[in-house]
Amino acid sequence: MKQVLIAIIGGLILISGSCSSAPKKKVVKPVKPKPVNVETKIEHDKIAGLFVFPGGKLKALVMSFDDGPDQDKRLIEIFNKYGIKGTFHLNSGKFAAKSKASLDQLKTVYKGHEVSAHSVSHPHLEFLPASKVSNEILADREKLEKVFGYPIHGMSYPFGTYNQLVLDLLPSLGIVYSRTVTIDASFRLPKNLLVWNPTCHSGTGEYWAKKFIETKKDEMMLLFIWGHAWEFDNAATDSAKEKNWTAIENICALLAKEKDIWPAAAMEIADYITAAQDAIEKSPEGIISNSSPIVLWVRSKGKIVQLKPGQVLSVSK
Ligand SMILES: [Zn+2]
Repeated sequence: MKQVLIAIIGGLILISGSCSSAPKKKVVKPVKPKPVNVETKIEHDKIAGLFVFPGGKLKALVMSFDDGPDQDKRLIEIFNKYGIKGTFHLNSGKFAAKSKASLDQLKTVYKGHEVSAHSVSHPHLEFLPASKVSNEILADREKLEKVFGYPIHGMSYPFGTYNQLVLDLLPSLGIVYSRTVTIDASFRLPKNLLVWNPTCHSGTGEYWAKKFIETKKDEMMLLFIWGHAWEFDNAATDSAKEKNWTAIENICALLAKEKDIWPAAAMEIADYITAAQDAIEKSPEGIISNSSPIVLWVRSKGKIVQLKPGQVLSVSK
């Protein structure tokens, strides 16, 4: 009996080949996955109570969808109807068969939303050597930047998986954040932008959207929904498909009514919380200084004030 044991992060897959003789009883010891070193870069407890999101808002929403299927077009129409900004992670390998005209059309489809990387060919990055990981990500960025005309610094992991090598390579490949598929329903800011765990999959989005709206905390909170637009059409009947589309539209309608929620691209959140973290980290105790190019919104003496690029503020009590 041929057995191939493949260790993957978080578990094991046992693939059994054909049996030509009586199988021997063999005990396979589970392989402990290698720990991945995830250094904390964003300190929720230090910044979530001191800063607020732009416009003085306490809550933010990210909608992050993978693979760039045709269904993104319909999803974007829904997002546009409700003023919600989407983040779309695309595999540029799919662009090879497209004409220049259809690539130009894509630019129109995704206008006003964030396009972000998802690798060229959607491999399991954790099984690749460093050179191939680099090529999958750099070539994807380059192609997307050429088509969409702006720098791409975000991504989501194909299959949601990664290993230490991938994590270590990302900063040198120009990637600032990368989304996983590991659920963290705490509404807290991510500890590390390269291991950004979403709040929920779109399939449970309505439940978590309601929870997010109900939850009142005097600190910054984030609802991060991920999924694939092709999943809405992944049903046996037309009415089941329409039910899926109605469900995502209901989520958008619910969240759009809330005036205290900032619908943002993942990159906007990444830039904002990185700037907030830097503003406290690079300043002496009791002072915050904004060395970023964006305006930060800060609580000061019972009020919310704007801290413009280059400005310094005393926050001592
Ligand atoms: Zn994918």
